Amino acid sequence: MSKLAAKIALVEFRPDETWQHVVIADQEKCRRCPDKNCLRVCPSGVFAWDNIPGHPVLVSYRQCIECGACRLACPEGAVEFSYPHGGYGVVFHQG
Ligand code: SF4
Ligand code: SF4
Repeated sequence: MSKLAAKIALVEFRPDETWQHVVIADQEKCRRCPDKNCLRVCPSGVFAWDNIPGHPVLVSYRQCIECGACRLACPEGAVEFSYPHGGYGVVFHQG
């Protein structure tokens, strides 16, 4: 196993099916947003848009690695990010 693979093996994602910790509060802001920075800055591909004007930006919060970049990069302040509740989200194993 490579060094990187060994490190990734120490990370586990435990999605909270009862609470979404990354949400877009106002899709109207996204419809007016020309650059859609969230699509580019998220290292985990959480945000997706089908390039059809008027269609919403989708949020696959289960694959979020909790870096916080989306909240900083959104010029409209449309992203609401909180850390997952205890025991959910990114979990590191000792190794
Ligand atoms: S950058 Fe913000 S306003 Fe623009 S599409 Fe993404 S979440 Fe919406
Ligand atoms: S916190 Fe990071 S990984 Fe999670 S949705 Fe935002 S940019 Fe993506």
